[in-house]
Amino acid sequence: MSAPALEIDGLRKTYGDVTALDGVSLTVPEGQFFGLLGPNGAGKTTFINVLVGLVRKSGGTARVFGHDVEADYRRDAIGLAPQEFNVDRFFPIREVLEHKAGYHGIPAAEARERADEVLKQVGIYGKRDTRFDWLSGGMKRRFLLARALITDPDLLILDEPTAGVDVQLRRDLWELVTDLNEQGKTILLTTHYIEEAERLCDEVAILDSGRVRAVATPDELKDRGSDRISVELSASPATLPDLLAGDDRVESIDRDGRRLTVVARKGGLVAPQLVRELDREGLEIVDLEISRTSLEEVFVEMTRQGGGEQATEASGGHGGGDGDEATSGDDNSDDARTERRAAADGGVE
Ligand code: ATP
Repeated sequence: MSAPALEIDGLRKTYGDVTALDGVSLTVPEGQFFGLLGPNGAGKTTFINVLVGLVRKSGGTARVFGHDVEADYRRDAIGLAPQEFNVDRFFPIREVLEHKAGYHGIPAAEARERADEVLKQVGIYGKRDTRFDWLSGGMKRRFLLARALITDPDLLILDEPTAGVDVQLRRDLWELVTDLNEQGKTILLTTHYIEEAERLCDEVAILDSGRVRAVATPDELKDRGSDRISVELSASPATLPDLLAGDDRVESIDRDGRRLTVVARKGGLVAPQLVRELDREGLEIVDLEISRTSLEEVFVEMTRQGGGEQATEASGGHGGGDGDEATSGDDNSDDARTERRAAADGGVE
């Protein structure tokens, strides 16, 4: 059996006094579409940067397809579409891609073919001779994806790929990344758009203040929140019978005249039982409504304490770990690291 796409155990990263990752452990099977959710400053970008060799971990282990990210880094296996537009702006985009392919050891003729292929894949082949800063914002996002795909990586990392793009483009990008996942690529996505995680991800981890609060499918997470069942009865009962007794999913039952409100986990499963019991008591229902907790509510609840307390941005915090060396005291200056860093972020700036 092949190794999981990601095997992370007790991963830690400190930048001086700031603990960005505080013992993160998680496993992502090959082929999964995995989401990393968390408020600003939760540690998502740091996590990604450790995986792609941009940031040196302070402790723990991180393996990608069984290979340690520091001792045995496989740069061709991972494609990163970063948050920042870290692209050489002055060259035609096809050349930027050829350059990157060459950097990964792909011969020139094949590099051109590969560049054309990925530009077609993301739908901007028509712009191949245009320089990056003349692309629209949406095309720039597509280009970052094309660049991440140039080595045909098995793991595609998307750091807020739809930040600031319009609804139509967001949907187009969703379709594109869904296709890539269906073709077998493992995808690690960070996003602030809960709807995005809900639509795309098989599983999500909620990260807060450098710790994993939960790993589950979006549906399982929603099951942890409280749903609201509102029932309107045809008449106000003189006394309310003891409903749903002993059901530990039920948090509260309130009555206001003819209206009953039950707050419970897994409201969809509790409601039929409630209906049966009311029927047995001879109470007629004229209206019933269940409002499910949204993933967003669960997310807010789980990350409330963290409250973005670590969100004080250190300068250079997202752009490739420039502040890393200065604050951590890590020795990141060797050539191999510089090369790895350049490879991971496009190698052109
Ligand atoms: P966002 O959603 O805002 O992008 P994030 O979840 O990606 O946030 P990180 O960028 O990983 O969070 O930051 C985690 C913590 O580490 C923050 O407190 C941040 O200020 C700090 N940090 C990140 N990079 C550096 C750095 N290079 N030097 C010093 N501190 C850093």
